[in-house]
Amino acid sequence: MKIGQPSSRRGILKLGSVVLLLGVQQIARGADILAVRLWPSKDYTRVTIESDREIKARQFLLADPPRVAIDIEGIQLMPALRELIAKVRPEDPNISGIRVGQNSPSVVRLVIDLKQAVQPQVFTLAPVAPYQHRLVFDLYPQKILDPLESLIADRLKEEQTAPPQAKVALADPLGDLIAGQVHRTEPPKNNVIPSPVKDKTDRLVIVAIDPGHGGEDPGASGPGGTLEKDVVLQIALLLQDRINKQPNMRAYLTRDADFFVPLNVRVQKARRVQADLFISIHADAFFTARPQGASVFVLSDRGASSSSARWLANKENSSDMVGGINIKAKDEHVLKAMLDMSTTAQINDSLKLGGAMLGEMGNVGKLHKPRVEQASFAVLKAPDIPSVLVETAFISNPDEEARLRNPSYQAKLSDALMRGIMGYFAKNPPLARNRAL
Ligand SMILES: [Zn+2]
Repeated sequence: MKIGQPSSRRGILKLGSVVLLLGVQQIARGADILAVRLWPSKDYTRVTIESDREIKARQFLLADPPRVAIDIEGIQLMPALRELIAKVRPEDPNISGIRVGQNSPSVVRLVIDLKQAVQPQVFTLAPVAPYQHRLVFDLYPQKILDPLESLIADRLKEEQTAPPQAKVALADPLGDLIAGQVHRTEPPKNNVIPSPVKDKTDRLVIVAIDPGHGGEDPGASGPGGTLEKDVVLQIALLLQDRINKQPNMRAYLTRDADFFVPLNVRVQKARRVQADLFISIHADAFFTARPQGASVFVLSDRGASSSSARWLANKENSSDMVGGINIKAKDEHVLKAMLDMSTTAQINDSLKLGGAMLGEMGNVGKLHKPRVEQASFAVLKAPDIPSVLVETAFISNPDEEARLRNPSYQAKLSDALMRGIMGYFAKNPPLARNRAL
């Protein structure tokens, strides 16, 4: 890597000529780096450089050892940028180290040393509250694990260490899953599966849990500084434990750490593991401290059920802007095709699931609205998976913010969500799946 020292004398001379030509108002100065952030995850590792004006970058991928060199134009090597070096964590699945140096007077070169081959995506994001200009590098591992295979591998590992009794219970559902391609079919009317927990010959039931926000997108924040993305992840992990304790159920998390997942990717992830249910977990917020209580939302195909539901859907749908998605890489075609599919059956099932969950949540805390509301939430648009969005409480209400942080309340809440799921399955058994052979 070529790292030249900035020549201060040359810098001054250049600045002088610019002043002569353009006047003081138009002095071209480098952008100020406001913050650098690193978001490691198994899915991808994101590097964010936030600045007071737009900066441009060019990247080069190098092999042996794998690394990405990124030339950032229009900035000086400043302490804020050097902070990146210290932010690399040893457990980062993708990055082993970062080096920075001034490559020429106006170009800083960043070298990201990699643990594995990656596919980098570099893009800029226009200012959106609470951020100014962002330059983003997303490093996607070239080798992608199949989430369904990982889920099965996990389950097999547990089976090997589980007591013999549990082994018997797991043998059949696994056999069905390992067959690979499984498809939903309408069950014969006289042959419905009674309950996911009672019948040991059932297939594995997969519940996708979607902790809202993450990474660059903190979601809402409470008066005490609690972030929605943190508490919803904690609740999701507790719900995951409860689901995985059931003999033939498995939870799949759309994110299991603090990183951003675009809304359509959350839906795609749930569909890839052929989830039976999709449960997005959030915490509500308002401009004033008073509003309180939990609420549950499902998709609507004919407008929102209330103006507040519409307002909330718009707010949750703006997650992609704050979290930061690469517009060019977004697959508009797939998204549009998905939205055009009929959702009536999905909405009917979602209303039943939402009703069961709302009823249970009413037993552990206050409800904001007594019935399930509907609006056009992007994250609920899987056409074939009953999907609900749970606003667990108002993080903007100081009492509820305290409850959301409280481990015993988090446990009570996830118990209630679990009872809601089981209540739904008791009345609406999961559909049988055929092997596509
Ligand atoms: Zn949210």
